[in-house]
Amino acid sequence: MATTGEARPDRRAFLRGAAALAAGALAGVGGCAARGGQAGAAQAGAAPATGPRLFPAPDLSDAMVAAMRAGIRPYRSGRVRVECERRDNLLVIHNYGHGGAGVTLSWGCAAEALRLVRGHAPAEEPVAVLGAGVVGLTAACELLGAGRRVRVYARDTLDGTTSWLAGAQWAPSLVSRGSPPGDPGFFDRVLRGSHARFATLADHGDWGVARRPNFVCGDGGGGLRHIPSDLGGTPEPLARLPIAGLQVPGGVVRTMLVEPPVFLPRLVHEVRTLGGEIVPRTFESFDDLRGLRERVVVNCLGLGARAIVADPRLTGVRGQVVLLRPQNLPYLLSHGDGYMFPRRDAVVLGGTVERGVENPTPDPAACRRILASHRRFFAGAATA
Ligand SMILES: Cc1cc2nc3c(=O)[nH]c(=O)nc-3n(C[C@H](O)[C@H](O)[C@H](O)COP(=O)(O)OP(=O)(O)OC[C@H]3O[C@@H](n4cnc5c(N)ncnc54)[C@H](O)[C@@H]3O)c2cc1C
Repeated sequence: MATTGEARPDRRAFLRGAAALAAGALAGVGGCAARGGQAGAAQAGAAPATGPRLFPAPDLSDAMVAAMRAGIRPYRSGRVRVECERRDNLLVIHNYGHGGAGVTLSWGCAAEALRLVRGHAPAEEPVAVLGAGVVGLTAACELLGAGRRVRVYARDTLDGTTSWLAGAQWAPSLVSRGSPPGDPGFFDRVLRGSHARFATLADHGDWGVARRPNFVCGDGGGGLRHIPSDLGGTPEPLARLPIAGLQVPGGVVRTMLVEPPVFLPRLVHEVRTLGGEIVPRTFESFDDLRGLRERVVVNCLGLGARAIVADPRLTGVRGQVVLLRPQNLPYLLSHGDGYMFPRRDAVVLGGTVERGVENPTPDPAACRRILASHRRFFAGAATA
């Protein structure tokens, strides 16, 4: 094995050991799911000891609107692509096509990428990671944690990436849940591995990862439906959502909130602390990879993977969000027409899905509809 990791055993041991630690954490999440919704509200810090334990409702007034944004999810039909390709004298490990679940699946796919690098490249081979979104940065951390020498190449970092725009709820939304031929357990393994890592991070310092109840009205949307029940995915019925002013029944799902404006800088910090470099670079075609000094390449370019591979399965799915000024709302909400993910920098309202639309300019009319749907929900649910 490569030896660069030995210089910083503590941090590497933490990165490596996180999944193992999480086995215990998983049990905790499952346990939460089995508890009552009102108890869950109390646990998440809602309310006083007496009287009904209710979370506050959001302030959805115009004065609270801070920004409108659009991002393009890198959706790949069939399955996320995590596999090896040998081309010329390069070993390319693809890791792209995570749709609306790139944050959710990131650590699990990073572990798969590491497995492929280990299986196909000697320990001393330096590795180029292409892309510094959540998929590239987690892959870089995983490789560095295993002692590999890593350089990340990317056109944009942090708030230039799609990852920055993610809500981000831990749920496999808008992603093809297929597995490659011969590996039927792939998607489930990635999902569970990723959950385990995030659950550990939620309990260790400030990674911008927190356990949160998601109050759902109706089925809460596809992503939540696809969280395995032992990871908290089966909604626990509630006679009434525990949000002030609401009179509507629903359910609660135990999930996690990942805040990209905290999580991504933390990953960048980890990459650098572990000895990795992040280098600005734009790739126009596969030929540009031949100029790299690394022969092992992990392709985490998201939708930008189309610059280096022809992949007709990879398309953009636009999502728009309205960012409200921060409010202290320690819960997520999913109702029929959208979602609300309160973070410390903003309350994110979203839920639009425009397949094949790749224009990143936000559409103000669509954003106004997002806001209107939330106002309708709160007005209607208050009187239901
Ligand atoms: C509105 C919205 C809400 C979302 N909510 C969630 C959520 O709640 N939960 C969740 O899990 N996911 C969510 N997602 C999905 C998530 O954002 C994506 O799946 C994820 O960001 C994909 O990460 P990535 O690293 O593959 O791509 P990106 O973040 O796009 O990163 C790609 C990297 O590659 C670089 N790059 C691209 N092309 C080139 C090139 N030609 N040359 C050099 N560098 C290049 C970019 O500069 C960047 O560094 C949401 C997405 C949107 C748009």
